[in-house]
Amino acid sequence: MSGNTLGVLGSDVKVGLADGTKIAYANLDYAASAPCLREVADVVGELLPLYASVHRGAGALSQLCTEKYELARASVTAFLGCRADDVVVFTRNTTDALNLLAHAVPPDTVVVTFEGEHHANLLPWNEVVRLPAPSSPESAVSAVETALAAQTAGHPILLAVTGASNVTGEVWPLADLAATAHRFGARIAVDAAQLAPHRRIDVAALGLDYVAFSGHKLYAPFGVGVLAGRADWLDRARPYLAGGGATAHVGDRPGDVDWATGAARHEAGSPNVIGAVALAAACDALAAADLEALQADEDALTTRLHDGLAEIPAVRILGRGWPDRLGIVSFTVDGIETRTVSTRLAEEFGIGVRDGLFCAHPFTRRLLDQAGATAPTAVRASIGIGTTSEHIDRLIAGVRAIAGS
Ligand code: PMP
Repeated sequence: MSGNTLGVLGSDVKVGLADGTKIAYANLDYAASAPCLREVADVVGELLPLYASVHRGAGALSQLCTEKYELARASVTAFLGCRADDVVVFTRNTTDALNLLAHAVPPDTVVVTFEGEHHANLLPWNEVVRLPAPSSPESAVSAVETALAAQTAGHPILLAVTGASNVTGEVWPLADLAATAHRFGARIAVDAAQLAPHRRIDVAALGLDYVAFSGHKLYAPFGVGVLAGRADWLDRARPYLAGGGATAHVGDRPGDVDWATGAARHEAGSPNVIGAVALAAACDALAAADLEALQADEDALTTRLHDGLAEIPAVRILGRGWPDRLGIVSFTVDGIETRTVSTRLAEEFGIGVRDGLFCAHPFTRRLLDQAGATAPTAVRASIGIGTTSEHIDRLIAGVRAIAGS
């Protein structure tokens, strides 16, 4: 890609093909996990010899790591454009972050969500109104309006939506959804697992109440994620995990505990300092990058990917043609089993894609149905920093060969 100076590890990895030759790996599975940014690897490499316990250690390295952990939180806060009184909790990933929020919402909260959600934003909620997947961004907003107008007063309402679909890449109208939610006294939580690596998210400007995302999709390693947002529900909830670090005071009798407030309340146990620092390095690198140039590059590659696949007669692309979409294209090939397509792409072309229902079973099934696909599952190709036009062209040539056209 041009227009930015960011680079990822692994672009020189070679893989063996079924015919015994070797080829540079074409990773087209960024929506599952993105490769590590060089900047992230450098920061982690510097920290590895130095890490030590955080928060209560008096030694120099403990103090250094405590400082780095809290600076990481500040980087994430800035990256997301959070309000001054928002809490930024480090979690394991998006799934963990959304489960933490589900744990923290007041008990009588009604959660309004859509069928188009990833399971991480579909399954953790207790009392749910699940709206059908909308056909357009405008119909998403009007469906929310109708659903919220039908709610009786007197209980909290949380609208839980994705920032961008992990199946179609379609970007959701967050500012309009937030304004609609607030007009009805509801809050909005955004699953930004897919959006955060590709678009600037400004929590305060968009009016979002909560945002969740994962490090491993944001060019940092596994094991760290974030829940950021309003403090009140989080401060009133029972700690997500009970244990050291989440307490202000523990008395001698069982149950005599004063819990901490703020992020510490939900971060019991030794935290993932390296993960947090890695994630913050990714946030810093992306915040400093020319995101418009990056997005222009990704848009051009997305169009190339989409149009190239759409020209193959046997290919059916899942999606509803929303105007703004990330570089994610899910598709089927008529007459060929999905697993055969992905396996042949790997073995004959050195390409890594994903196949299945992408942890969004109801939504992907509906899209397959709408596309008239005979296959019960789909292949997904997804891109990001480090993707080249050669990767895209190789995929298109591979699918063309597999489709026999
Ligand atoms: N939401 C979306 C939209 C996703 O794409 C994913 C990952 N596929 C998740 C949530 C869950 O992320 P994680 O596995 O990192 O918890």
